[in-house]
Amino acid sequence: MHSVSGNTTDFSFSCSTCMGDDRHIRTQPGGHSLVKTSCPASQVFHLECITRWLDSEQQKVRRLDQRQCSECMEPALPLIRLGGKSVLDDESPYCESLMLNACRTGNLKTLKMLLAEDETLANRTYRSALTGHPEHPLAVAINYGFTACEKLLVESGAMNNQ
Ligand SMILES: [Zn+2]
Ligand SMILES: [Zn+2]
Repeated sequence: MHSVSGNTTDFSFSCSTCMGDDRHIRTQPGGHSLVKTSCPASQVFHLECITRWLDSEQQKVRRLDQRQCSECMEPALPLIRLGGKSVLDDESPYCESLMLNACRTGNLKTLKMLLAEDETLANRTYRSALTGHPEHPLAVAINYGFTACEKLLVESGAMNNQ
């Protein structure tokens, strides 16, 4: 049994409820994508459910980097897809490519793996889920202070010319 904590708003969304009841997901082909939020608790939601929340009137007025997790009200973006990896730009504006996210979180292991598969990934831009604009992974790694990622990107041929 999950309890729904949503007395602050009449927008009654909680993925913990629909986890056991997929009725609104079943109507969507290709539904069931699970994503993790970037809030400290990194909650798991259906992409469709959290997208509906992030698109709601209450959230739409906020900047992308200020949009809140519906559970804990901490900044929720970018969303990270579980399982399926999107190396390049994601179809969802709230999800971030694995490349950019690895640089944002300092995930050197993932970055190494991606660049081992395709070194040219280091030198292209990816849409940031926080700004909606294309960004260089190298700029993101520098910005977040992940020097190991930065070094790896430069070794892979990334240039910091925006
Ligand atoms: Zn859901
Ligand atoms: Zn949260």
